Order: sequence, then C-alpha cells, then structure tokens
Amino acid sequence: MALTGLDVFKLLPKTNCGDCGTPTCLGFAMQVASGKSSYGLCPHLSDEAKARLMAASEPPIRQVSLGSGDAKAAAGGETVLFRHEKRFVNQPPVFVDIDDTGADERDGGGATRHAGVGECEPIEALATRVASFRYERVGQAYRAEGLVLRPSTTGQARKALDLAIRLGLIPFFEANLDTLQPLQDDLGKAGALVGPVEAEAQLVGASRLDRAGCAVVLRARGLDEMSALVQASGRRGVGRLVLEFDCASHYETLFCLIQARRLALKKAMRVFGHPLLARADARLEERHGDQVALQAAGLISHYAGVLVVPLLPAEAMLALLTWRHDLYSDPERPVQVEPTLRRTGDPGRNSPLYITTNYSLTFYSVENEVQASRIPSYVLPVDTGGTSVLTAWAAGKFGAEHVAEAIQTSGAGDMLDTKVAVIPGYVATMAPALQELTGWKVLVGPQEASGIPAFARKRFLRDG
Ligand code: SF4
Repeated sequence: MALTGLDVFKLLPKTNCGDCGTPTCLGFAMQVASGKSSYGLCPHLSDEAKARLMAASEPPIRQVSLGSGDAKAAAGGETVLFRHEKRFVNQPPVFVDIDDTGADERDGGGATRHAGVGECEPIEALATRVASFRYERVGQAYRAEGLVLRPSTTGQARKALDLAIRLGLIPFFEANLDTLQPLQDDLGKAGALVGPVEAEAQLVGASRLDRAGCAVVLRARGLDEMSALVQASGRRGVGRLVLEFDCASHYETLFCLIQARRLALKKAMRVFGHPLLARADARLEERHGDQVALQAAGLISHYAGVLVVPLLPAEAMLALLTWRHDLYSDPERPVQVEPTLRRTGDPGRNSPLYITTNYSLTFYSVENEVQASRIPSYVLPVDTGGTSVLTAWAAGKFGAEHVAEAIQTSGAGDMLDTKVAVIPGYVATMAPALQELTGWKVLVGPQEASGIPAFARKRFLRDG
C-alpha cells in the first residue's frame, strides 16, 4: 500500500529543524510520500520509525535478484495490477526447461524432446542452443535468461552449475535440496533458483540456501496452502521467495496467479507479495511451439514473475520475448533511439541522408529498408520524443524548422558534399520550407518505409 503524507508525518520527530533540506516536517512528509525525497534525509528518525518506513515503502511484491555477473535478472517488484495504471517493472526472466526428466517422452540416455523442436539432443547441446538464441529487435537484445536443470547427485549439480555459468545463464535447480547443500556457497554466488519446497520439513535446508544467496521456490496446490507455506518460511527466516502454484488445471493455475497478485496489491497481504513462477507446457496435449508460446504469453500477462518454458523453435521464442518486451515497456514513454546520425553501409560524401523520427519502430523500419536498398546512406532520427512521423507532425515536433535544426546539429553537413535529404512522404509539404532553411536538396520519399528500396534504386542509381 502506498504511503500517504500523513502516514510519514506521524513517524517524524516534528521539530521543523530543516536539516532534511525542507523547512517543515509536513513539507518533507509530503515530498517523501510523492517520491520526491527519501526518509533517509531526516537524521532525527528513530530506528523504529526507520524500520516502519522501510517496511511500508517496500513494493507490495518484493523484488528478487537472480543470477550474477552478466547473467543477472530481477523478478517481482511490481506495484500495479494493470499496465496502464503505471507500468510493469521487471520483465519475467525466462527459464528454458531442457531437462525433461520424468516426462513421457524421456529417452534413456540423457537426451530430451521439446515442444515443436522434435529432436533429441544431449543436455549440453540443448543448453548451448538456449544460450545462442539472441535476437536484436528495435534496438533491444532478446534472450532467455536461465535453464531448468534436474541433477540427481551433487556431482551432476556441480557439472550443471559450471555449464550454466559458462553459458551465461541463470540455473534453476529442481532437485532435492540435500543434493545441493554441499554446493550452497557456489549456488549462492551464482544467484541460483532452487526448489521446489513443498513442505515445512524442507525449510531447514532451504534456509541455508537462502542465506547463501539462492532464491527458493515454494510450491503449493492453492492459495491457502501457499499462505501457510510462506508463513512457515518466514518463521524459518527464508525471505528470498518465488511462489509456484501447482494446480490441477491451467485454469486453476491462472486463477491462483491472478488472485495472488490481487491480494498482494489490493489487500496488502504480504504472504503473496513475492514473484510468482509459472510454467507453460506441462498440460498441453500437443506440444507445438506456437501453442506453448501462446500459453506462455498468457502467463506473462497474468502475472508470472518468472516463466518456465520448454525449448521452443526460434520463431515461437521470438514471438514470446517480443510480447514480454512490449508488455513491460513503459506506456508513458515510447521506446525511442538516440537522435544521432547513423550510417548504413559505408556512406561517402555523395550519399543521401534519410530523415525520420526517433520512435524506435519507425527508426528501425527505415534503417532496415535503407540497408535493404544496398545504397550506403546516412539516417537521421530527429528527436520527436519517441513519436511516429504523423504523430510528431501533428504535435508540431516534426516541422521544417525542427528538422533543419536537427540536420545542422547532427554534423551531416560536414560529412557530405552532395547535400540531399530524403523526408518521409507523409510530410511532403515541409519540403520547400526545409530546402529554404537548409539549402539542401530535399526529396520526398515514400510514405511507408517498405517503399525505400525501390525509391532509392530509382533515384540514386539513376542519378549516380
Ligand atoms: Fe522534520 Fe526531520 Fe526535516 Fe527536521 S530533518 S524538518 S525533523 S523531517
């Protein structure tokens, strides 16, 4: 629950000494409540008041750090039920389950079968495939963050841990905790996820792994059982928790995920204030990649904080990670690129300059098509606050004066002898004014980026 100014004010010493940089305690309390200041700036707070403020200002769903070094991710930390209320915070790390131990299709020799992939490979090869899946889209790098591994001995766990670290992936060990205990320090350093813990008796081992730095997965069949297990974990001092509902049907699992999120946010029930783990795949009769990806997208939307999927075909994985990225982008801040001059190919002093906006989707669409034209060029994304061409034009952020200033500050004029700028076809009317302001030859390009290759071949190959 968000703190109000009155909540904070009640805990302050009320001396109005001004040591916090605000003349009155009330003013300071209002600033803290609105997030413009931090209660730590008041040096006169009692320890009890500090502890209460710290607890009250924690996000209703705790943030849990996973992994280490380059393989790092955060789960949880969410504050809203719906993205449009503010924004979702941490994209759920995706763990690929490459170890089908116990699945119907298990092969005898440590090889596994996966959704829509339809082939059997040793674990190491599968792990390498997961690590090698990296895709660049609209300037973002997409990848899976971790692996699910099921070692049955400490020796196997050691090898699996080394493999995950070597590949830059976060390990999630679904294993007997006694097996993992001898490796607890290394697992903690790697920020591993361990579990599942399904009964209070397992919490002794779980607390050691938690203290070492691991996050512990609690698994229960419903909300009441989970509540009891979380409270028992609290009594054992196990705090770095991830909650998994293991229900009889996908519908029931979704129900628990939604209710847990609602109870944590709307009823301030701290027992459910932990990231939720959800799995796609297990109950799908036909394990095709697209069906699994669709189910997983639903789980990300409601409200997986950590997601486990089987090994998927690259196209299904890309669709899933795109959905994750887009859902977790800030609705108040369009995804944008730096408004600096870019090169495609190896442009010379007679190359054209394409003008566009710095909205990511617009910019990368244009850049891709300029590349596809195979004519080396410059591309200048004008700073329009991350809005598309027509939106920026309508808002007065993409007029001739704005573009002329962007061309001047970009330094493009110093790099080019033949000064030719191509503007989007939708803003053709700015051409005369832009030509006059810059002295450049202004060409009106196609309305859609897809028309750039044909346009470029016609204009620049013919003109030489
Ligand atoms: Fe009040 Fe603390 Fe600020 Fe002094 S430093 S004015 S006691 S909030």
